[in-house]
Order: sequence, then C-alpha cells, then structure tokens
Amino acid sequence: MYDYLIVGAGLYGAMFAYEAKKRGKKCIVIDKRSHIGGNIYCENIEGINVHKYGAHIFHTSDKKIWDYITSFADFNNYINSPVAIYKDELYNLPFNMNTFSKLWGVKTPAEARKIIADQIADLGITEPKNLEEQALSLVGKDVYEKLIKGYTEKQWGRDCKDLPAFIIKRLPLRFIFDNNYFNDRYQGIPIGGYTKIIEKMLEGIEVLTDTDYFDWIKDNAQNVKRTLFTGPIDQFYDYRLGVLEYRSVRFETEVLDMENYQGNAVVNYTEREVPYTRIIEHKHFEYGKQPKTVISREYPSEWKKGDEPYYTINDDRNNNLYAEYRKLADKEENVIFGGRLGNYKYYDMDKVIAAVFDEVAKEFGE
Ligand code: FAD
Ligand code: UDP
Repeated sequence: MYDYLIVGAGLYGAMFAYEAKKRGKKCIVIDKRSHIGGNIYCENIEGINVHKYGAHIFHTSDKKIWDYITSFADFNNYINSPVAIYKDELYNLPFNMNTFSKLWGVKTPAEARKIIADQIADLGITEPKNLEEQALSLVGKDVYEKLIKGYTEKQWGRDCKDLPAFIIKRLPLRFIFDNNYFNDRYQGIPIGGYTKIIEKMLEGIEVLTDTDYFDWIKDNAQNVKRTLFTGPIDQFYDYRLGVLEYRSVRFETEVLDMENYQGNAVVNYTEREVPYTRIIEHKHFEYGKQPKTVISREYPSEWKKGDEPYYTINDDRNNNLYAEYRKLADKEENVIFGGRLGNYKYYDMDKVIAAVFDEVAKEFGE
C-alpha cells in the first residue's frame, strides 16, 4: 500500500516525493517518459549537459528557495546574458545601456531616456490594450520593432496586437550597463546538470519510468491512498470540459565539430524571417572546454492534443476553462494537482519549489 502515488517525475513530483518520504510516507513515482526530471532533464552528449527540453537557468530572490535547491547540488555562478541578432546586427539583452548604445550611438542614460521618451510621446498610447501597445509604451518603436515584435510573433504564433500585455512585463528595462537577464539576487546552473538534483530527491523511492498513469492505475488503484497528479489537468478528466491549449517547441539539436560556435549560451534571433527563436549552445552554461559543442535551435510550433505541452496560453478562454477544471479538482478527496500542467500555470523552477513548500504545509498540516 502506498501513501502517495506521484504522477510525474519532474521537479514538482520529485520534490513532493522527497518531502513526503522525509515525513515517513511510502511513495511511488511514475512517469510516462523514459527518464526522470520532466522538463529539466539533462542528457549528456559529448561530455556536455544538454538541456533536452529547453534551456533552464535557475534564479530566485528567495533565500529559503536558494538554500533548498543548493542543498541538492553545487551551483556555478552563471549569469544569463543573452545576445540578440537582428538582421546581422548584435544587441545585448535585456534592454539596457549596451543595447541603447548600439542602437543609437548614445553614451549616457539621459540621452537614451530622451530617445525612448520622444518615441513614446509620438505614439500617444495612454492605456495599453495589448502586447504591442504595452511594449511600444515601455520601450518605444526602435526596440519594439527590432527586438520584440518578430521574436514574440514567432514564439506565440500570433500578432502582437492579439497577445496579452503581461507576457512582456517579464523583460527588464535598465539604464545601466548591465546584461544580466534577471533581476533576482541568486542565479546559477547546477554543476553536472539538473538530473542529478532529481536523482537525489528520488533516492530510496520506488520510481517507474515508461509508465503512463492511465494504464497503471487500472490495475493498481487499490494500492494507493492518495495521488499527486502533475500531468495535464484536462487529460485527468478526459477533456470533458474542453482542451486547454499550449504553445509547443521543436528542438533541433546538433553536435558540431568545433570548440565554440556562438560564444554565448543563448543567442536570440529577433527577426520574423528566421524560423527559430533562439540557438542554445549548452556547454557555455557550465563554461565547458570540450573539443566539440552541442547546439539546439528552438522552433516554436502549434500544439495539438497529444503533442508535448510547453508554454501554457493564459488567455481568457484557457483561464476560464482551467477555473472550471479547478472546481472539479477541488471536490477530489484523494487527488492533489500540482506543477505547471496540473495547475495550468507558467511556473519557473523557483515558483515550483515555493508551490511544493505550500502544498507540503497544507498536506501535512504544518
Ligand atoms: P514537468 O517537468 O513538465 O513534469 C511533469 C511530468 O509529468 C513529466 O515528466 C511528464 O512526462 C509527466 N506526466 C504527464 N502526464 C503523465 C501521465 N499521464 N503519466 C505519467 N507521467 C505523466 N524555469 C526556470 O526557472 N528557468 C528557466 O530558464 C526555464 N526555462 C524554461 C524553458 C522552457 C522551454 C520551458 C517549457 C520551461 C522553462 N522553465 C524554466 C520552467 C520549468 O521547466 C518548470 O518550472 C518545471 O520544469 C516544472 O516542473 P513540473 O514538475 O511542474 O513539470
Ligand atoms: N522576448 C522578446 N525578445 C527577446 C526575448 C524575449 O520580445 O529577444 C519576449 C517574448 O514575447 C517572450 C517574452 O519576452 O515570450 C519572455 O521571454 P523569456 O526569455 O523570459 O521567455 P522564456 O525563456 O520563458 O521562453
């Protein structure tokens, strides 16, 4: 008899299992994939930890979360500083004095602020109604057209006028020479990759990979007291209220017979005509010196039922549908839903950890 069946060996499921085991609970973790780790899984290719489901950089401002994750692995001091390429010109990201200097030849924050303010004034936007208006009223026309519009339309497969403004609020705007993509106090990459963290969390716990919940449960329901489900919530209910939508990504990964391809872990291609959004060169996350290198091009793609879900699309239609599924979920006595698929939420890894802390406190009455 298991106290907990945990569906999904991603960060949410693995951390929950670890915490439950620590409290003396007997757990079994199942995952339909052939490996543990969910989307933070790293595969070793040519001695390089390849982020198989997209580049992952850990960042947080919460000391408790940082102390927690670093108790499972040593982290390096990697700082994400992506470069953007637009029509053969290179620009630093996020939008900062290095970007403005390259765009307009300016040297001081006052000069950059004036150019942006003049561009914003020309537009006359008072209440931004969509992503385009939000971006234009934050950074003006030049930054929007060269660094935001093409990338965003590729990423989301729709016009910036049809996208919600909040997507862009994540991007910092700074008037200092600082290429750090994140504003968080703590940042880094686990030395040796993310999978090791998950292995450590799952130490001593029974794990079945290549095991789909909907098959497994048919013969095993009687052996399980409670279930944590971190797969898609709509699938759990056989899509009876409708299908929640995602945006998918196709990764084309190549091994190149050279030491250094692009000189940076992340290079964004911000023009619409280039079909991929970015190229990741994985070795640079860990300052690798291997003789070969591995790169992944990311091609955003339409998602249909059955494809790998990556980005939730939190527009009104999907948020309302999720709220309806949530009502069903709240009535469950012995099933908890968690993680980015179970909660239909764009969770960064630090937010997953925060959510598990909360769930554990609730579940174990602490
Ligand atoms: P997942 O990792 O998706 O785990 C869910 C698991 O459930 C999967 O392994 C799946 O196979 C399994 N499962 C589903 N259905 C079933 C079933 N029926 N039976 C059995 N198993 C099932 N966060 C950051 O902090 N920094 C970043 O730089 C960052 N970059 C990202 C880049 C991309 C492209 C994406 C998509 C996400 C990124 N994230 C990043 C977010 C990060 O990936 C998530 O926070 C984290 O992986 C979520 O963990 P999870 O356990 O909720 O979900
Ligand atoms: N974005 C952009 N230009 C860039 C990078 C990002 O316009 O060069 C926008 C885009 O809309 C994207 C959002 O900012 O969806 C968030 O970017 P981030 O890099 O945080 O996304 P993620 O790593 O989650 O894909």
